Amino acid sequence: MADATVGSLREVFSGQVVARDGSGYDELRRSCVWNGDIDRRPWLIVQPRTPQDVAAAVRFAQDAGREVTVRGGGHNFSGSCIADDALMIDLGDMNAVQVDPGARRATCGGGASWAQLDAATQEHALGTPGGFISHTGVAGLTLGGGFGWLTRRAGLSCDNLISVEIVTADGTVRRASQDDNPDLFWAVRGGGGNFGIVTQFEFHLHDVGPLIQLGLSFWDLEYGPAALRVARDLEKTLPDAIAMFIAGINAPPAPFVPDQYKGAPGYAVLLVDHGAGDAYAHALSELRGSAPPQFVFDTPMPYVALQQMFDESAPWGIRAYEKAVSLVELSDEVIDVVARHLPAKASPMTFMPTFVLGGAYGRRSDSETAFGGRRATRYVLNLAAVAPTPDLLEADREWVRRVWSDLVPLAEGTGSYVNFMTDLDHDRVLASYGADKYARLSRIKAQYDPDNVFHHNANIAPATE
Ligand SMILES: Cc1cc2nc3c(=O)[nH]c(=O)nc-3n(C[C@H](O)[C@H](O)[C@H](O)COP(=O)(O)OP(=O)(O)OC[C@H]3O[C@@H](n4cnc5c(N)ncnc54)[C@H](O)[C@@H]3O)c2cc1C
Repeated sequence: MADATVGSLREVFSGQVVARDGSGYDELRRSCVWNGDIDRRPWLIVQPRTPQDVAAAVRFAQDAGREVTVRGGGHNFSGSCIADDALMIDLGDMNAVQVDPGARRATCGGGASWAQLDAATQEHALGTPGGFISHTGVAGLTLGGGFGWLTRRAGLSCDNLISVEIVTADGTVRRASQDDNPDLFWAVRGGGGNFGIVTQFEFHLHDVGPLIQLGLSFWDLEYGPAALRVARDLEKTLPDAIAMFIAGINAPPAPFVPDQYKGAPGYAVLLVDHGAGDAYAHALSELRGSAPPQFVFDTPMPYVALQQMFDESAPWGIRAYEKAVSLVELSDEVIDVVARHLPAKASPMTFMPTFVLGGAYGRRSDSETAFGGRRATRYVLNLAAVAPTPDLLEADREWVRRVWSDLVPLAEGTGSYVNFMTDLDHDRVLASYGADKYARLSRIKAQYDPDNVFHHNANIAPATE
């Protein structure tokens, strides 16, 4: 029965269809998901090449009574792109990128990675805000919001969307922009994969690089907390053209790290100059003058290299778990909690990346997009357990939960960035969006996906009235 059904899909589908007993199934189901802690067996994996393929797969799954999961880049910690016994739509083959430098626009397929989009836009010294790891998918990151090295200059990834082509639950291929289906366009800018499968993104581009200047400063466990206080005060004075990133992290075994600090836990503050002129040198000397680091690293580098700089810290197939909090201020109390817990993590790869927002991000209004966070938020502090073995992951999963519990009373509640949730529980999704935004998203969900076909995500339940 199942085979006959799958045969009918193959007749209308131009991409690959891989069944459980098909060759390459096991390799594919494992390699499609970044988090090595996820081990799931979908009913069918389909790899569309066209929006019509995607539409056929969406209709087919519903006719066959199967759940649907959607894979862009496979990076989500929760493994939401893959589920036992579901039909997985893997967009990896739909990754073409086109750049129109004159119009300062780029389009990319729903399965493109940031490495692919950055490489194409940087040929013209252009770019749009993406994340910190180049093998992350453009799709999941953008649909949930998306922040990285360009966020203080140009906002979130979703702030820079011009339009999307999207296949909705009824199998219709639609366009959404400010002029076409504007409600749907509002919802996909932050509402995640709830509203359909995006087969093409169109982004606004900015002048970026191609060379940027990086300044990394590192302090050990003793001196780090004082440095964080200096960085916090400095952040308030930075122009938009300087990006800041803070991490509780073990120093890498890189050539620029003195031998005695290789692998040592501590704190890094990274400043990136996107064209701030003298303000950049001034910011570096303020930081380092007030809190002398144990070592520093200053270098010009191509923007595409900056985008790949952390790739090795998050290799494909590593085991991982995360939780995050949103903060208006990196208060002394928050720094104390961080300093108390950082030495107790078990895995050397586990770290606390802290995303510094502000700038252009903060000048948007909360209601402009569906993004599940407030524009007053200045820091998203992520607790990322990253481990090579199950035992280390288990230890640091508990560590993440302990640190998170201590931070929540100092944060903007239990909600935070929906893309940083390994446990996709309803209360935290609701808290992230807030009651009003969630209610508006629910109404739009009821219009485009009344049966909640797309529910393997930070789910918005369709409104019932
Ligand atoms: C190591 C690491 C570093 C990260 N760094 C950053 C960062 O710097 N900044 C940041 O903002 N985030 C960051 N993230 C979080 C990232 O934004 C999310 O994990 C995001 O979901 C990844 O998107 P993806 O397409 O790769 O994921 P997938 O796992 O493929 O997809 C996640 C979900 O997105 C939806 N989805 C995917 N593709 C589509 C599509 N084409 N149409 C509709 N829905 C779709 C589906 O609901 C799917 O379940 C990081 C994650 C990791 C693991």
